[in-house]
Amino acid sequence: MREALMRRIESKRDEIVALTDDLVRIPTVNPPGDAYAACAELVGERLRRSGYAVEYVRAKGVRGDSARYPRTNVIGRLAGASPGSCVHFNSHLDVVEAGSGWSLDPFAGIVKDGKVYGRGTCDMKGGLAASMIAIEAIIEEGIRFPGALEISGTVDEESGGYGGVGYLATKGYFSRPRVDHVIIPEPLNVDRVCIGHRGVWWSEVETLGRIAHGSMPFLGDSAISHMVAFLHKVETELLPRLHERTTAQPVEPKEARRSTLNINGLHGGQPEGDGYPAPTVAHSCRTVLDRRFLVEESIEEVKAEIVALLDELKRTRKGFDYVIRDVMEFLPTFTPLDAPVVKAVADEIRRVLGREPAFIASPGTYDQKHIARIGHLHDCIAYGPGILDLAHQPDEYVGIDDMVASAQVMALAALRLLGVPGVA
Ligand SMILES: [Zn+2]
Repeated sequence: MREALMRRIESKRDEIVALTDDLVRIPTVNPPGDAYAACAELVGERLRRSGYAVEYVRAKGVRGDSARYPRTNVIGRLAGASPGSCVHFNSHLDVVEAGSGWSLDPFAGIVKDGKVYGRGTCDMKGGLAASMIAIEAIIEEGIRFPGALEISGTVDEESGGYGGVGYLATKGYFSRPRVDHVIIPEPLNVDRVCIGHRGVWWSEVETLGRIAHGSMPFLGDSAISHMVAFLHKVETELLPRLHERTTAQPVEPKEARRSTLNINGLHGGQPEGDGYPAPTVAHSCRTVLDRRFLVEESIEEVKAEIVALLDELKRTRKGFDYVIRDVMEFLPTFTPLDAPVVKAVADEIRRVLGREPAFIASPGTYDQKHIARIGHLHDCIAYGPGILDLAHQPDEYVGIDDMVASAQVMALAALRLLGVPGVA
């Protein structure tokens, strides 16, 4: 049965490519969240034709949802022949903007040299296509399975997932007893199992000043100068300290096995409008800090060390005052290596690819955070055909061989998790 299923998937190579193309040609760019409904329908109609019960769930009222940009998610459930557990494949439908530097049309789905090119091929429409074709092959082979197989296409992963997996998790779509095992076909390379991710804390720090005419700065107090003093401390005191902190988790790339901080944005002075800001001493300057932390660190410590820098400046620097706001925070998430979904996918990587799988963790968060935090489901991994380093890059592509191989791994791992005889 294994061999027949593998051959069936191999014979569906052109279908995987065609489906990836169809998905890429719907430019689901986020922000703003374009064409979500059209993409969800493409997925949902195909699942319906295969016999799934299909639901469309719009995250009404979440940030970004509107009549023009509805946050439309799709979930399909394919019931098995008898009761049992459920394996769920979750992919996000949204892609980041194409950006510059492309040598070909990012939304044409161009096939060249064994690769499909386009924005979202790697991250992660190729993974979605592979999981859909994997289950179609199971259906076509007439393999009877207990329990259920589910596929979802969800929105807004690139902006935090609140309208997608986060929303669905609050409605019970990612909890027992509905779902037992989750595979997210994010681009982590075809022979690697991603067990989780580092934590994240975004904060907005605002320094305060006193407005005055730009020709007489001595009459005011510049919030920008205060911000410079703060960022200087970040650069010279905090960053070296963070660089010393390493994790035992197998985060890839290896440079991310340390604590990191990025300054995501900086704005001071009057709004610029079309030209230049008005000539005033800045009464406010804001920065957004993106702190990624390790499972070995507590979020309380992470926050306290930045507040300590600010408080020190308040004590020592004349006129310094600040406000700090939490923007977003997620704790690190890791699935144990002996969890059923980890073992099933790792074993099938060994058998299908003939290679020893690598176990890795992601530097950034993805929708696993909502499944763990809200769904309280911890049998969850990311596994998909894309190459991690190509995500969000110009000339993004996914390898066709990798899509076929990952579909074989996904199909066989799913049957193993459902306990179908003759697979393991
Ligand atoms: Zn992604």
